[in-house]
Amino acid sequence: MTRSKLSKIINDINTLLLPVVCFGCNEQLYRGEKHMCTVCRHQLPLTEYTFNVENPIDRIFYGRINIKKANSFLFFTNHGIVKNLIHHLKYKGQEQIGEFLGDWFGLILKENSNLPAIHYVIPVPLHRKKLRKRGYNQTSLFAQQLAFHLNSRCNNQLLIKTANTKTQTKKTRLSRWYDNRSLYEITNQDLLKNKTILLVDDVITTGATMELCATEIKKVPGTTVFIASMAVVV
Ligand SMILES: [Zn+2]
Repeated sequence: MTRSKLSKIINDINTLLLPVVCFGCNEQLYRGEKHMCTVCRHQLPLTEYTFNVENPIDRIFYGRINIKKANSFLFFTNHGIVKNLIHHLKYKGQEQIGEFLGDWFGLILKENSNLPAIHYVIPVPLHRKKLRKRGYNQTSLFAQQLAFHLNSRCNNQLLIKTANTKTQTKKTRLSRWYDNRSLYEITNQDLLKNKTILLVDDVITTGATMELCATEIKKVPGTTVFIASMAVVV
């Protein structure tokens, strides 16, 4: 038996054993619904921002880092569907949510964006210890799906996180920035030279993480950076 057949069987067994609920509202899903019920799908707060015209996410980065353009798929709020989605994705082992969101966003970008050719889609990396603990980078499948729809390649080796930092939610933007200097590193300068990159993360809050990662990429000559996230706090 092939590995994928086996994993499909395991998936099917899981589906039978676990109650299948919506990741947005925790209600039971009906037949034909996957990940999210129809009601939540219709209520998802899509930003409808594009890579074509200026939007509030671009303004987060003004004067901080020379990126080309930023975009986010959803609005993040402290309650509700998007918060539940991200929570399941990051803390409940529901890696496939990233795939679901990336597939949806990727289709939209494919149809509505004047993005130039993207050489690499790069997910914001986790430190290897954190990666081991969680078992996956919650942004990887999202990045992979975007790469698929944009005819690009996802690369999660080019940018790595070199220091493990504790949760930063209680720190100010400035102290976070000081703590975070050169936490990220480019592993292959030559491969990045003159390339156009789509840098991807789960949620943009202050933009500090994206700023640090983009700064490392921009140190490589000739690089152009676009930014995308699953959700943005406004
Ligand atoms: Zn729902």
